[in-house]
Amino acid sequence: MANVKLAAVRGMNDLLPAQSPLWEWFEARVADWVRSYGYQQIRTPILEHTDLFVRGIGEVTDIVEKEMYSFEDRSNQERLTLRPEFTAGTVRAAIEHSLTYDGPKRVWSMGPLFRHERPQRGRFRQFHQVNVEALGFAGPDIDAEQIVMLARLWKILGITSARLEINCLGQGDERARHRAELVTYFDRHQDALDADSTRRLATNPLRILDSKNPAMAQLLGAAPQITTYLGDASRRHFDGLQELLAAARVEFKINPRLVRGLDYYNLTVFEWITDELGAQGTLCGGGRYDPLIERLGGKPTPGVGFGMGIERVIECLTQSGQVDTAARTDVYVIHQGGATATSAFLTAERLRDAGLDVICHAGEASMKSQMKRADASGAEFAVIIGESELASESAAVKPLRVLPSGTRAEQRIVPLQNLADTLVDALDGAEVEPEQ
Ligand code: ATP
Ligand code: MG
Repeated sequence: MANVKLAAVRGMNDLLPAQSPLWEWFEARVADWVRSYGYQQIRTPILEHTDLFVRGIGEVTDIVEKEMYSFEDRSNQERLTLRPEFTAGTVRAAIEHSLTYDGPKRVWSMGPLFRHERPQRGRFRQFHQVNVEALGFAGPDIDAEQIVMLARLWKILGITSARLEINCLGQGDERARHRAELVTYFDRHQDALDADSTRRLATNPLRILDSKNPAMAQLLGAAPQITTYLGDASRRHFDGLQELLAAARVEFKINPRLVRGLDYYNLTVFEWITDELGAQGTLCGGGRYDPLIERLGGKPTPGVGFGMGIERVIECLTQSGQVDTAARTDVYVIHQGGATATSAFLTAERLRDAGLDVICHAGEASMKSQMKRADASGAEFAVIIGESELASESAAVKPLRVLPSGTRAEQRIVPLQNLADTLVDALDGAEVEPEQ
């Protein structure tokens, strides 16, 4: 055992310090963005009863058939599952705590999900989503709001490649008629179906439309389209959505083959897609699931929401290279060991009292190597406490930022009692315009 090299589980990634500034930047933008639309955060457990997902997602879906991490609890033999998506847990919590008792609710979540898929670019076994759900709203205005909201996020993030596809899946009876026609159509063309699709013909024929197999493109292109079967109410909902999107000048394409393979999805479905990420180009998928809440034991309540793959959005941001992700701190404190180390330690605490971000050098090292670390830390200033500074109860303040002239401002000696004020003032000034 001792010689076995430990490694992360396949398909599960470590987020290392060099990458975390980009994630933190993204998460901060997201928190502001959801707030600007009145969404409140909900945090549900990562583990739920397996049955929640079987009932919530549906037995004949890829997720439930083959992607869930499920196991038996040690003590009471309950079947538990690491959540593969957010909607089921969010709806369970909403029912359990009567969240929509006093009116509709807008809620959002962010965190890890788990699916046992084949790991590849943009597809992992632990991945992360931003998830947004609106519970208790029936009209197309909220569908439009969520889509427009995403268009705004792409602007905030500087992502220009995201394009929108929408479709309308209608209601149960309309879907049933479409489904029957689909089955007849595919039955007639069985020889053109691949193995996956032949299996789905018996279980979930709608999912065949989702196939990415180019050999089936022509067959799928000529298949019966749900749009033909929509009744007046569904059509009005779909028209209402399109009118609002057009009024908000959000471009979209109607993709009649855009489906979600889950029975309870109805009316609006949408995806935001980019061509910058290769095969896994869907940044975000969502839609309406009006039948779900009742199906999970709640009072009939409409719902609409979406999940956004954070790794894929982060990859877009990395490719664009526009986000500044350099390490940053205000001050790096350097000392000569012994009594100067104690003084440096306490000086750093005083500076943090004043609200500054401070790294104090820990351990022993030459002044030269400490100065190198100060430079690498991204600090604006090095504060140096050597023997002579300690004796005069002062510190040397050395600006680290390179001025446009290619030089750095002069080092100066500051009494310890003025140090925090001096640095706070200097940092305020530094934000505006560096001295020439
Ligand atoms: P796909 O067709 O890519 O498998 P999906 O229909 O399974 O997507 P959803 O369940 O709708 O995806 O999840 C919403 C988003 O979460 C996706 O659009 C994608 O950005 C992201 N996502 C889904 N599965 C993964 C995964 N295994 N790894 C990374 N991101 C994922
Ligand atoms: Mg999938």
